[in-house]
Amino acid sequence: MGTRPLLERHRAVMPSWMNLYYEDPIELVRGEGRHVFDSEGRRYLDFFGGLLATMVGHDIPEITEAIREQAGRILHTSTLYLVRRQVELAERIAAASGIPDAKVFFVNSGTEAVETALLLATQYRRSNQVLALRGSYHGRSFGTVAATGIRGWSATSLSPLNVTYVHSGYRLRSPFRGLDDAAYVAACKEELRTIIETATAGDVACLIAEPVQGAGGFATPPPSFFAEMKSVLDEYGILFVSDEVQTGFGRTGAAYFGIQAFGVRPDAMAFAKGIANGVAMGGVVARGDLMDCLGANSISTAGGNPLACAAAVATLDVIRDRDLQANADHVGARLRAGLDRIAADHACVAEVRGMGLMIGVEIVTPGTTRPDTALVTRILEECRSRGLLIGRGGLLGNVLRVTPPMTVTEEEADEALRILTDVMDKVAAGAAA
Ligand code: PMP
Repeated sequence: MGTRPLLERHRAVMPSWMNLYYEDPIELVRGEGRHVFDSEGRRYLDFFGGLLATMVGHDIPEITEAIREQAGRILHTSTLYLVRRQVELAERIAAASGIPDAKVFFVNSGTEAVETALLLATQYRRSNQVLALRGSYHGRSFGTVAATGIRGWSATSLSPLNVTYVHSGYRLRSPFRGLDDAAYVAACKEELRTIIETATAGDVACLIAEPVQGAGGFATPPPSFFAEMKSVLDEYGILFVSDEVQTGFGRTGAAYFGIQAFGVRPDAMAFAKGIANGVAMGGVVARGDLMDCLGANSISTAGGNPLACAAAVATLDVIRDRDLQANADHVGARLRAGLDRIAADHACVAEVRGMGLMIGVEIVTPGTTRPDTALVTRILEECRSRGLLIGRGGLLGNVLRVTPPMTVTEEEADEALRILTDVMDKVAAGAAA
């Protein structure tokens, strides 16, 4: 196979556990709209790119031109001079956040964004005690790894933070499975209060949460979950930090920032990934008094550099001008309905969940709740051979993740559903044989 020599070189110089998904790994060399092309000339419909930072698709003319124009003008990384687009971008994000007196600090990745948000919260509250949700993923640095609740992504048991985990929206594999929304939320709320009262020293800095858990398999809480949880936090003066790295900028369809769909105003939000459509950028938007805790350490050499800002402004313009939040809602609902139909016909689907263009399909051995990771591998390979790329995730690696760029059309959603239906019929027949 053509990619084998490159795979060997990759294995020799990069961490051994890095997951390249397919038996014959794909080398992507070009993208166009919602399609990508590999080094062997094969074309794929990209239904995972939304998560991989290509928020609105590949080679979108307005964004490509903005990057090209900025690259030909000036590429400096400095906090010593004013950058007009950086200020404009901060103003837009602050206004969209709904946080009063909001201020924005730009960095270069989701990890750095969450790390900064945790720094603000712990500094402000003068406590290193943090609450996080089970099944969370927040990054790869010392602090964000500590707040990550998936063992496979934990990396170390040493921690600068004192983290306690509370129940997330992942009802299917919680002790509260089977409860209806109201009872589930009440149970989670009760547990949160008990943990604060009995398992912490009483001066918790913050709760950090992803509105829809990304790596955790698109686990999505009931609508009242975050408002009820926040009402408990408010009683204790505990800050609420929303990790919007996957849910930001309209991907959930329902709101510009995922947490807004739950009617909650956080104290700080971390964002990254899709904001600059693949150019590295991240940041934190927070209450002004929290942000002021950064003090003397409020510099980031490349954070908010002109190239990233040009790409981000162009990306947010595309989302606004093409009404892509509404598209995420609309095409997301169509995809969701199609996946629900597939679930009704296939006993290996335990649950379909998500919001907008973040849809998870949990795969189990039919008739059980046992995760079927081998089946997920087959589904991914079969989809790939039919020209469809989707992702996998979840605490147990048994969730299909469907998250196309926000420019996805109805026709493309239908094509992906046709391929998925075919594949599920084939693997189900294989499983029964
Ligand atoms: N938070 C969430 C919710 C994420 O999904 C990720 C990346 N998967 C991160 C933080 C870390 O972002 P990065 O990989 O850009 O450091």
